[in-house]
Amino acid sequence: MNSSIYDIIIVGGGPAGLTAGLYASRARLKTLLIEKIALGGQVTKSEQIENYPGFEEGISGFQLIQNLEKQAKGFGLTVETGDVQAIVSLHKNKKTLKVQDREFHCKALIIATGSESNALGVEGEDTLLGRGVSYCATCDGAFFRDREVAVVGGGDAAVEEALFLTRLVKKVHIIHRRDELRAIKILQERALAHEKIAFIWNTVVEKIEGENSVEALKLKNIKEDRAFSLSVEGVFIYVGLRPNTTWLKNRLPLTEQGFIETDHGMETSLPGVFAAGDVRHKLLRQIATAVGDGSTAAFAAEKYLDSL
Ligand SMILES: Cc1cc2nc3c(=O)[nH]c(=O)nc-3n(C[C@H](O)[C@H](O)[C@H](O)COP(=O)(O)OP(=O)(O)OC[C@H]3O[C@@H](n4cnc5c(N)ncnc54)[C@H](O)[C@@H]3O)c2cc1C
Repeated sequence: MNSSIYDIIIVGGGPAGLTAGLYASRARLKTLLIEKIALGGQVTKSEQIENYPGFEEGISGFQLIQNLEKQAKGFGLTVETGDVQAIVSLHKNKKTLKVQDREFHCKALIIATGSESNALGVEGEDTLLGRGVSYCATCDGAFFRDREVAVVGGGDAAVEEALFLTRLVKKVHIIHRRDELRAIKILQERALAHEKIAFIWNTVVEKIEGENSVEALKLKNIKEDRAFSLSVEGVFIYVGLRPNTTWLKNRLPLTEQGFIETDHGMETSLPGVFAAGDVRHKLLRQIATAVGDGSTAAFAAEKYLDSL
């Protein structure tokens, strides 16, 4: 049992949580950040970040997080490792969180638990996970040097990771259920012009096949209602995000997809409870918007504390 009360507890140590921690600690508030795995969140999966302002030659995800961690801790941010499992109680002056067999208390709460990759939900996906099925090209791409792989999806993450894979593999097949990409124009242009990338349009994956590792994909062209097979040794899946909010069910109103609604100050419908980053219902899920949310949430939480 931890009986001391923090001014602010932040749940999640990605760019949104770390930035909220930086702002709150710099405002001399007693702040605790609780992260269940390792600081950095999804950024640690990104080898090179090209679109975070201020780094004209890009910066690795690892380096960006190291800098951010150092900066936040330099202002006094305390970090604990723990999986926050539930909100036990929500009072104006005291909010209680359950973290495994411990309880933590705060006056204001910032939720920055981000999102995770959606699964395709097809046969073979679970059984061949780690044996050719992956959700992170930056993490697993090197295992497929000079092989043929597929990327499923048509958004920014899918195209970005397909381009990254071209540095390692022989060929990348992008399989997309529509006949055009959703990714931003600059990524589309690069992928469409790349000699190592081939596109399979209007097509969905029906099954991932292989004895001990991925050998082929069973595909279906949904426009022509035609089934066919593609031989690949790896498949990287980027078909959207699932917010990490199951621990908030029945405590906080969520959108149909499970995202958290906030006002312009990142405050939820519950006073003193804020949300920041990818976990929020928003238009653009990127590092730049996550750090914007994190700083706003910390500032708004400070105002909430002043009002108590
Ligand atoms: C492959 C890939 C490439 C990307 N490339 C770029 C890019 O080039 N540029 C860009 O701007 N964006 C990129 N993004 C998106 C960017 O990484 C995210 O928008 C950003 O990380 C969101 O930050 P966040 O802090 O909201 O969430 P996250 O980074 O998801 O961090 C959330 C953290 O909360 C923790 N957590 C979750 N639940 C709990 C719990 N119950 N208790 C405690 N801790 C918990 C998680 O472990 C995680 O560390 C990329 C994403 C991916 C997947």
